[in-house]
Amino acid sequence: MSDKIALSTWPTPLEPMPRLAAALGLGENDLWIKRDDLIGLGGGGNKVRKLEWTVGAALAAGADTLVTTGAAQSNHARLTAAAGARLGLDVVLVFPGTPDSATHGSGNLVLDSLFGARVHWAGDGGPSTMGDVADEVCRQLRRDGARPHLIPFGGSSPLGARGYVEGGEELRSQLPDVDHVVVALGSGGTMAGLVGALGEQRVLGVHCGAVAEPAATVADLAGPLTRRSITPESLRLRTDQVGAGYGVLHEPVLEAMRTAAGTEGIVLDPVYSGRAMAGLIAAVRDGDIRPAQRTVFLHTGGLPGLFGHTETVQRSVSTLRSYEVE
Ligand SMILES: *Cc1c(COP(=O)(O)O)cnc(C)c1O
Repeated sequence: MSDKIALSTWPTPLEPMPRLAAALGLGENDLWIKRDDLIGLGGGGNKVRKLEWTVGAALAAGADTLVTTGAAQSNHARLTAAAGARLGLDVVLVFPGTPDSATHGSGNLVLDSLFGARVHWAGDGGPSTMGDVADEVCRQLRRDGARPHLIPFGGSSPLGARGYVEGGEELRSQLPDVDHVVVALGSGGTMAGLVGALGEQRVLGVHCGAVAEPAATVADLAGPLTRRSITPESLRLRTDQVGAGYGVLHEPVLEAMRTAAGTEGIVLDPVYSGRAMAGLIAAVRDGDIRPAQRTVFLHTGGLPGLFGHTETVQRSVSTLRSYEVE
């Protein structure tokens, strides 16, 4: 029996992208987009499917407070805050840095605030210490009489990844013959769930630089979802879009964002979905994705993060075209 809860209505739309397909030299029926950016909670995005399982487990365990970790612009943290608001649970987000750090931008933090979440700023210990700080936050919450439940980083545990086994099955029922599903690989749970539903050969993950060992991370998450073991070598992965590192604007990503926005009115973010689109474009160029094959781009959301990404905001506004009246 599962304790899964509903946090949105399903399925999300699947739409064709004929103008983007043409721009890439593909046929007009070759390219589709699965709109998980339109998931109806808290600004949308892929983390909601995972939270249906992980927050369901928290409620089943009697929790009254959700705790999770991430970067200050974490979409997962924002959606955990939204889920807490929806369910009447307190939320504490553990972020690195200090409240006055200039690199935070605004974006997701605006929404975290509106959802009523509290933030514990963990200082500059680096991402590896974040789990320890979150454990300490949980201990103090317990001393204060609360019943905290820790939601894993990015929502990526085998339990959370079950949300994307369902996402993959939902996609297959909308479009039975899919050759490629292209997805951003962050903490790995989304790709792992898709591999669980669709197999290793159809899922192309585009590494965003968020984890050190992307293939092993996905394989470890996907194994428990299937009856066989998944080896890192069997996964399809592109690592060519990481650039200078996680969160740093990468030129082909900005190009991909402009192409998707300019041909289809689709907004991508510079950290995840823009990288996935840059990976898709590179895969078409090098022949890994070919005309007459059916390719689905999974839009994982991230729009609020675009507005929290100072460099992308400045670059976009500075290249805004003007129109003069004589
Ligand atoms: C977290 C995130 C991803 C990556 O998903 P994982 O399951 O962490 O790999 C992709 N896109 C967006 C917008 C995200 O917030």
